[in-house]
Amino acid sequence: MIQRFDVRDRFAEGAQYLAGGLRDGSSGRTQYVVDAATGEQVYGYRLASTADVDAAVDAAARAFPAWAGATPGERSDALHRFATVLGERAGELAYAESLQCGKPIKLSAEFDVPGSVDNAAFFAGAARHLEGRSAGEYSPDHTSVIRREPIGVIGSIAPWNYPLQMAAWKVLPAIAAGNTVVLKPAEITPLTSLMFAQAATEAGIPDGVLNIVSGAGREAGEHLVAHPGVAMASFTGSTAVGKRVAEIATSTVKRMHLELGGKAPFVVFDDADLEAAVHGAVAGALINTGQDCTAATRAYVQRPLYDAFVGGVADLMATVRLGDPFDPATDLGPLISYTQRDRVAGFVDRARSYATVVTGGAVPQGELAKGAYYLPTLITGAAQDSEVVQSEIFGPVLVVLPFDSDDEGIALANDTPYGLAASAWSRDVYRTGRATREIKAGCVWVNDHIPILSEMPHGGYKASGFGKDMSAYSFEEYTQVKHVMFDNTGTARKDWHRTVFGDRT
Ligand code: NAD
Repeated sequence: MIQRFDVRDRFAEGAQYLAGGLRDGSSGRTQYVVDAATGEQVYGYRLASTADVDAAVDAAARAFPAWAGATPGERSDALHRFATVLGERAGELAYAESLQCGKPIKLSAEFDVPGSVDNAAFFAGAARHLEGRSAGEYSPDHTSVIRREPIGVIGSIAPWNYPLQMAAWKVLPAIAAGNTVVLKPAEITPLTSLMFAQAATEAGIPDGVLNIVSGAGREAGEHLVAHPGVAMASFTGSTAVGKRVAEIATSTVKRMHLELGGKAPFVVFDDADLEAAVHGAVAGALINTGQDCTAATRAYVQRPLYDAFVGGVADLMATVRLGDPFDPATDLGPLISYTQRDRVAGFVDRARSYATVVTGGAVPQGELAKGAYYLPTLITGAAQDSEVVQSEIFGPVLVVLPFDSDDEGIALANDTPYGLAASAWSRDVYRTGRATREIKAGCVWVNDHIPILSEMPHGGYKASGFGKDMSAYSFEEYTQVKHVMFDNTGTARKDWHRTVFGDRT
């Protein structure tokens, strides 16, 4: 099902997509897309300059009136065709996603691509269900109506861990609601965002509705957020950069949507199904080589199960197959880059002074040494306030800590700045019910960890940001609510005028 193609040839004209066509960036600086499994540069392109951002915003602004004025049915038809074209391109999209990210092909082909196609199909349907509250007479003399209107040009910024899905999450609800978009993918992973935009054009979505600027964060990203022609900034990435985006958006009084970092707890109560918890923890920690904002990163295990859980996780991690991302048998690919691998190794190396590295904690030797690989890593004995428990590592590293009472387990789960996702493992519905109420996170799974759905919202609490991706809730982000009030009396002198004219009414 995977379809290889020549990336250099496909994007020979450049990695900017403006008003329905590819073009070169004008910054004068070259950026390479690197295959992290081999270190080979697979594509080079010129980054977007601030002038390229201006041109993209201009294209989106020109496309806005007609797209916002299209009926929901017309936008829905276009999105249905978009879903179909994306489905037809599935093999190429999976190839490009694995090439630029080093993702195992089974993850790209079974998760990233079908998830994005399903998102397009969901928003094709949802486009026809934009709702306001009921119209009516909330005073006897007036009829009130709610209009839910698009906002304008949306400036979206995405990270490198799931480039295609992040493009889908940012773009689809925005255009379904009648906005137009300038999307800035992470500069190291532009390929599937460009293919996503090409598919939109092929599906008949008008030129300018979706534009891509492949540029550096500090230059193109900041310029996009600050741009007076951009009505809203929608950002997914780290909490540190999210704060910077929020500062710029605030200073230009823009709406914003921030999907930021995570440090998801995985709470195992002493009546949990141990086998399920062990498998769930390893899969939840290692998906996408741990470069997942909802990855299971901190497992809290109630004392009676602690030793068996640690042993089970160590044994299972040892069976995970690292290898060529394009080998269907590969479970774990390289990290996105050598820089990211060294960052992850830094966290683990510093932890050796205060914790125990039970398994992993090293770069694999032999053939894999040339790629940005890192062994699945299990750490125990770390204190709750230590760096590996509190900071987002974004690599294949799971930290396990014991707890005694249910109160303690839940308190520890809540004890980081983040609040994106969490899971609770128990056979007792009252324990899991309590955990779902008391854990402060945008998603709490019960006896599972990771699955997502187009119909359900994804978004953070606390330092993980605010706003929702996917689901009908994302329309709240990409629409503004207008109150329209009709006078029903037809009189020149309204009752309330007395407050101004007194006796003279
Ligand atoms: P990052 O914050 O470094 O970069 C994200 C994007 O912001 C990139 O496109 C980058 O070029 C751009 N950027 C960098 N500096 C900028 C600036 N000053 N102004 C404007 N834009 C700028 O994040 P990353 O390393 O690409 O991705 C990993 C992070 O993303 C992790 O923290 C992860 O948790 C987070 N993430 C969150 C979610 C979520 O839904 N909450 C989903 C995926 C990833």
